[in-house]
Amino acid sequence: MEKEWRCARCKKLLGILCDGRLHLRFARGHEYLVGFPATSVCRGCRTLNELKTGSQVPGPITKGATGTQEST
Ligand SMILES: [Zn+2]
Repeated sequence: MEKEWRCARCKKLLGILCDGRLHLRFARGHEYLVGFPATSVCRGCRTLNELKTGSQVPGPITKGATGTQEST
């Protein structure tokens, strides 16, 4: 399952999380597979983003969970 690692500020895509590792893709076909912790400076807004673990990235949005439960 793949997840997207996005800039905390402008939501630009920084890398793809794949099987517990981070897949970074740069211009001219350079690709890197790195472990954690990982840091990346956003190409859009220059914000330094740090990823300590893979679970820090929010997964795909799951619909149906409302969070409001009544218990009496
Ligand atoms: Zn950014």
